[in-house]
Amino acid sequence: CVAVIAVLSVLICEGQTALKESVIERKVDSVLSLMTLKEKIGQMNQYTGGAEITGILSESKNNQLPELLKNGGVGSMLNVLSVEDTRKVQTIVMENSRLKIPLLFGYDVIHGYKTMFPIPLGESASWDLEAIKKSAEIAAREASASGLHWTFAPMIDISRDARWGRIMESSGEDPFLGSRIAEARVRGFQGDDLSKAYTIAACAKHFAAYGFGEAGRDYNTVNIGESELHNIVLPPFKAAADAGVATFMNAFNEIDGVPATGSRYLQRDILKGDWNWKGFVVSDWASITEMMVHGYAKDKVQAAQIAIEAGSDMDMEGHAYEEGLEPLVKEKKVDVALIDDAVRRILRVKFQLGLFDDPYRYADAEREKNEVFTVENQNIARDIAKKSIVLLKNENNILPLSKAAKSIAVIGPLADDKDTPIGNWRAQAEKNSAVSVYEGIQDAVSKSTKLTFEKGADLGVGERSFLLPLQINTTDKSGFSKAINIAKKAEVVVMVLGEDAFQSGEGRSQTDIGFSGVQQELIEAVYKVNKNIVLVLMNGRPMELNWADKNIPGILEVWQLGSQSGHAIADVLFGDYNPSGKLPVSFPRAVGQEPLYYNQKNTGRPSAGNGHVTYSHHTDTPKDALYPFGYGLSYTSFNYADLQLDKKTMSSHETLIVSINVTNIGKYSGKEVVQLYIRDLVGSRTRPVLELKGFEMISLDPGETKKVSFTINVELLKFYTANKKWEAEPGEFHVFVGGDSRTLLQDGFELVNHN
Ligand code: BGC
Repeated sequence: CVAVIAVLSVLICEGQTALKESVIERKVDSVLSLMTLKEKIGQMNQYTGGAEITGILSESKNNQLPELLKNGGVGSMLNVLSVEDTRKVQTIVMENSRLKIPLLFGYDVIHGYKTMFPIPLGESASWDLEAIKKSAEIAAREASASGLHWTFAPMIDISRDARWGRIMESSGEDPFLGSRIAEARVRGFQGDDLSKAYTIAACAKHFAAYGFGEAGRDYNTVNIGESELHNIVLPPFKAAADAGVATFMNAFNEIDGVPATGSRYLQRDILKGDWNWKGFVVSDWASITEMMVHGYAKDKVQAAQIAIEAGSDMDMEGHAYEEGLEPLVKEKKVDVALIDDAVRRILRVKFQLGLFDDPYRYADAEREKNEVFTVENQNIARDIAKKSIVLLKNENNILPLSKAAKSIAVIGPLADDKDTPIGNWRAQAEKNSAVSVYEGIQDAVSKSTKLTFEKGADLGVGERSFLLPLQINTTDKSGFSKAINIAKKAEVVVMVLGEDAFQSGEGRSQTDIGFSGVQQELIEAVYKVNKNIVLVLMNGRPMELNWADKNIPGILEVWQLGSQSGHAIADVLFGDYNPSGKLPVSFPRAVGQEPLYYNQKNTGRPSAGNGHVTYSHHTDTPKDALYPFGYGLSYTSFNYADLQLDKKTMSSHETLIVSINVTNIGKYSGKEVVQLYIRDLVGSRTRPVLELKGFEMISLDPGETKKVSFTINVELLKFYTANKKWEAEPGEFHVFVGGDSRTLLQDGFELVNHN
């Protein structure tokens, strides 16, 4: 009876969703049937507001925007913030335009709106999908309370290159982890019903392969083949599409000679064709007109034609659709059916958001006042921040520190920095609104602890403005002596070094991933007088850490953790939280290894000896990562034993259970992310030496053992084969389980054809 009721309620729920969808489709059709060509094209234009929205709306002669809004010439605006401004702009449309189609307000809400969560790369280190979903949910609540409907997130570009500044905005190098995180973020932003006033539409970006720019240079040319595209780049996008993401954003880069924005293969054949996805694609900022700079279109009109034919539905600030589409349709160069399809997709999202019922429903001054940067949101931010910290080294158990330590010296340019923890892509976060590490430590330690602080040096970065070189040559060591002085007298030194918030992010690629300025000299000088150092690393990308790894006993990777950074770091430093984060990206030994990733291919050259040395190697650096993908320590230790497979042969309609016993053999309760990898030994396309296929976070008390089981089904074994299909190929597979991608127990099975 219970089962029957459960089935019935699923059916009723599915029935209701289908009904709702068909009602929306009918409404979309009826609005579309009323629209002129000009009005349709209007829906496909997105304009920016920016801080000067009042100026932009002024009735000055050169300003076309008010007229365009009145005439239905704008479908969406980005960077219009606050209830007051969104209301003001929406009112122009609602009071003047013929069809009163509400505007869609979009913004980059990447890792929080006012309450800031860890930068996406950092948050991905939590491997905690519930927490990740929650942070997106809070970001949506805060952003929607300011009148916003749509975020340009999540960025789900696979990122293998630490030089690329936007790695900070990604979920790292792995397609499986990236897919799960993509789903979590989409579900967090969108909830289960987009029409609720506290959910916002998400945007899977950048479609596709934006993370593969040559030499890690932002916007740069991408040359990857079909196998890499389908097997590595696309899976997170497919996962986002399946999770119901409302929109996609295309990308600035070209792939194999075709700008992504003009790629019919990506947008029409794959996304809207094979995947049958029904949302709309927005261009990246002016990426339609940028096809002229790429040398792919001779003018805006041709750029518009290429983009619409390729499947780009909305033109973000490129003004190509505004100029080109009308003449193109009139001259019969572009079929109006393409325009109708784009507009239908845009209207569908507006209906889903409930904007036709009430265009102002998100612009609620009460909510804006009461639901943003609340104490509750700060607590959630602290929770996810501490889960994102990765313990890289803990020699002689220097960590956790005692809250009753006699004296602690806190040193470093980032130690009392209240702004850098906010990170780049900081939405509406107030400057200096984060808790600094020094503040966090002050709040944590006992009254009797003697706390001292010295900055020691500056970061050695210049102006933060967009696209300018940030690192500057500085030799200023005038702060060293004071730092050395307090270090000498302290029981333990906490040093906070790393990168400025704007050293990573868009346009922030670097060839040097070591410490800027005189930070390296500073830590070496302090080390000379006190070796008892815990290094807290605050950065947006993997850094080169060879010296620190060799010499410093305690190293914590804390990324840029957002508003509650200092408290979260203190939680881990003093053992209130036992670190559980695992790297979502490999940390190289030298920048010359980049791009470096665990799921690499073998070459044809065999291994010569100790595993690190194969014929494909650099002569001056071991081949592997300093800290590999999936790596992260705990204050306790975990032992892995008894790896078991329930069968040695699996046919494609069967499942195979992999199990392992994990025991906490240390003194603290702790959490461990148990990771499952496979290797497909022979394929119709060469296969990576290791691929993550599952993970589970478990909590264990000291002495406790838990059996963790993973189910392998044929879906997990599929890849984009030489047949250009997702298939699993019969043959031998290795299975690996462990706590990171390097330390693994191994077994194997064979996949056989069942007929
Ligand atoms: C970025 C996008 C972003 C857009 C709007 C572009 O420069 O590449 O990721 O969403 O600007 O701010």
